[in-house]
Amino acid sequence: MLKLDEILQGVKRAGIAGHVRPDGDCTGSCLALYQYLRMYYPEVRTDVYLEEIPNSFHMLTGADEIRHELPEDTGYDVFFALDCGDTKRLGFAGTLFEQAKKTVCIDHHVSNLAFADVNQIVPDASSTSELIYDLLEKERITKEIAEALYLGIVHDTGVFQYSCTKPSTMEAAAELLRKGIDGPKIIEKTFYEKTYAQNQVLGKALLESIRLMDGKVIFSYITKKSMNFFGVKAKDLEGIVSQLRVTTGVEAAIFLYELESGEFKVSLRSKEKVDVSKVAQYFGGGGHVRAAGLTFRGTVHDAVNNIVGQVALQLEEEA
Ligand code: 5GP
Ligand code: MN
Repeated sequence: MLKLDEILQGVKRAGIAGHVRPDGDCTGSCLALYQYLRMYYPEVRTDVYLEEIPNSFHMLTGADEIRHELPEDTGYDVFFALDCGDTKRLGFAGTLFEQAKKTVCIDHHVSNLAFADVNQIVPDASSTSELIYDLLEKERITKEIAEALYLGIVHDTGVFQYSCTKPSTMEAAAELLRKGIDGPKIIEKTFYEKTYAQNQVLGKALLESIRLMDGKVIFSYITKKSMNFFGVKAKDLEGIVSQLRVTTGVEAAIFLYELESGEFKVSLRSKEKVDVSKVAQYFGGGGHVRAAGLTFRGTVHDAVNNIVGQVALQLEEEA
């Protein structure tokens, strides 16, 4: 088990970063650790780096202190990579990780490459936020830190719905609620609430470009042109793939959105039979058994054929 006191011994500067296109767990775990180090290790100068986060996550304390650009002095004594399986996924902060004297990775992706000096990788854990919860001294968790951890757990478990939700997850959530946080508000505001434009894009994805193959694999996509038309960004498309997944009879859901011409970000979700982390890794991506992602270069047509092909192979093996 990791010990913060040991890691931070003699440390003057600490950095924290998560994966590109930060989601709830990535943002929650990073901001929780950031607040904790700021509060209980005041002798350490701590910074947190993330790409732009969804607007609703700005309710978290410390969100406005997130750095989006590299500092002049890139030398950190220790650098934490959270919820991230490889250096490349750290995006612009990868440089800071590579130049740090010591590196630590805390993560729950099965595809994690154990790329740091110290690695705490627990693929069974619901979320990186639950791992950070385990790492922190419980009595030192403030209400603001609890909000960040709760948000992270809520997002990676789909509001305690997915099979990654363990008794330990519920125990952590209960303890966080005891810190006085407004749990329902975090769920409503950061998970369920969608803007009008987001609902319109969801409608488009569920109606126009949707395809159901053999009743088992469901697929849809959104082009850059549509994103511009509705005025939405990549971070506004969260949730579409989950809506595809809940379709009766479906084993795997595939959702694509265009990053730039000829390049697509792909989200994969599954119910019981398909290990989507294997599918993602086949195409150079990664993730979890039930939720994974990758970047695909080619046409939508190529993407459907290739990715559905990989999913179908697994379904055939199962049959
Ligand atoms: P999402 O579909 O929500 O973007 O991602 C689902 C899961 O797969 C997340 O845990 C995310 O970190 C992981 N993931 C998504 N895209 C990639 C990718 O390109 N590479 C790797 N290694 N993991 C990814
Ligand atoms: Mn996560």
